[in-house]
Amino acid sequence: MHNENLYALLASRFPKRPDAPCMILADGRVWTYQDVECASARMANLMFSLGLRPGDRVAAQVEKTPEALVLYLAAIRAGMVFLPLNPAYQRQEIDYFLGDAKPGLFVCRPQTRALANELAAKAGVANVLELGDDGRGSLIDAATPHPDTFDTLKRKGDDLAAILYTSGTTGRSKGAMLTHRNLAVNALTLHEYWQFTPGDVLLHMLPTFHVHGLFIASHCALLNGSAMFFENKFDIARALKLLPQSTVFMGVPTYYVRLLAEQGFSREHCADMRLFISGSAPLLKETFDEFVKRSGHVILERYGMTEGGMFTSNPYDGERRGGTVGFPLPCTKVRIIDDQGAPCKTGAIGNIQVRGGNVFVGYWQMPEKTKEEFTADGWFKTGDMGMLDADGYVSIIGRSKDLVITGGLNVYPKEIEGMIDALPGVAESAIIGLPHPDFGEAVTAVVVRAKNDRGAALSEAGIIAALRGELANFKLPKTIHLVDDLPRNAMGKVQKNVLRERYSGK
Ligand code: AMP
Repeated sequence: MHNENLYALLASRFPKRPDAPCMILADGRVWTYQDVECASARMANLMFSLGLRPGDRVAAQVEKTPEALVLYLAAIRAGMVFLPLNPAYQRQEIDYFLGDAKPGLFVCRPQTRALANELAAKAGVANVLELGDDGRGSLIDAATPHPDTFDTLKRKGDDLAAILYTSGTTGRSKGAMLTHRNLAVNALTLHEYWQFTPGDVLLHMLPTFHVHGLFIASHCALLNGSAMFFENKFDIARALKLLPQSTVFMGVPTYYVRLLAEQGFSREHCADMRLFISGSAPLLKETFDEFVKRSGHVILERYGMTEGGMFTSNPYDGERRGGTVGFPLPCTKVRIIDDQGAPCKTGAIGNIQVRGGNVFVGYWQMPEKTKEEFTADGWFKTGDMGMLDADGYVSIIGRSKDLVITGGLNVYPKEIEGMIDALPGVAESAIIGLPHPDFGEAVTAVVVRAKNDRGAALSEAGIIAALRGELANFKLPKTIHLVDDLPRNAMGKVQKNVLRERYSGK
């Protein structure tokens, strides 16, 4: 049987030169591909010696370090199911994840050890080990005596490789189950679609508890046998220093906004860059245009989610169209469906549904929820609204749950946000629906002032006056809140649920 373990695929592409760099750290230390092979073997051996068996979950709530990435690789190599957790999660959340996933091993940071012990005992988790932000800890101590070779466990494509809990902006967070095949199909597709070539160097500044940094970025580099500047987080000074030594950068839109806000950022930083990729949240057209002017590079925007990695991407060679997320990837079929289940015409907004080898196999221990989220003919309902244009480019209009229904009429936040964002003195905006006795929901705008005189001069009446006549009356915001910034999660997504809570009842 061919071994469909994702690690076997990745390792088959590792450079044979023993000194080939895999991760280059801020302090100058280098992890070679051979180091990664040996360290992941030691950890895989450790997992078995602790009594874990294939299919058992390995949960990790740790900072981004090379050891943390190796822990992920070791888990899949050993046939375990990796479960990354955001270090920001607190008691309630960890309690839920451990109780739900029942891992055989929980790796925590030393500073949360007491809490981890308590919650692990409650959930019946047999092993708790530590990995510190400096890459040391009892996990490493326990792994060190183990052999640094390990026969990558034979896996079938539909065996589980990872469970990623969705950010859960409404209701209970759900564990998306991803198989070795899901991850391999997406990785191979992206590696080819984005034309990774020998000698590419990835600037990796994304967190590794999320699909973007853990799978999309890392897998492309590992499949390519590339070096990554493996930075703990996005830092503007480090980005300016490392971009000139890199060829590919993947970021969330906020990273691009922050690069542009830096006076010194220019074409010189990007002279050797081949590709800038953005995703996880919408990239404003303004940011896209400004980036071309300042860097000479056209950002490639793509779209995907935890439940399947990437679904669409702007082309590498063809026109990268700002404000769109490009075409369905070769591994994914995309369709836009109206509320009655019929395909939408070109240019009409509907529900985005996907299917393909990369689309997840269901939510962990939630068969009912899984059934609800798939159509009878096997398409996954993403919960995103979008449309296809005449050339086949997909645009994301927003989450279906962010749709505002006022007086029985649908209002798509993005349309109004786009108009408000274009007004002088506006940095960005978010449209939400708030309960209203007559209309059901009232269109409400939260507008961020630009940090300049025009921003200071913005007024609610001025914004309404500018929109009147441009938009149908029912779309005009009933209320406008002027603010200094919008609440965002770690991946740069605007948290509309937080805004709805904040302003409802006001
Ligand atoms: P997550 O599962 O945390 O990666 O979140 C996935 C969600 O992020 C998608 O369902 C979209 O709503 C949003 N998203 C991802 N990429 C984009 C993009 N390029 N433009 C707009 N929204 C995006």
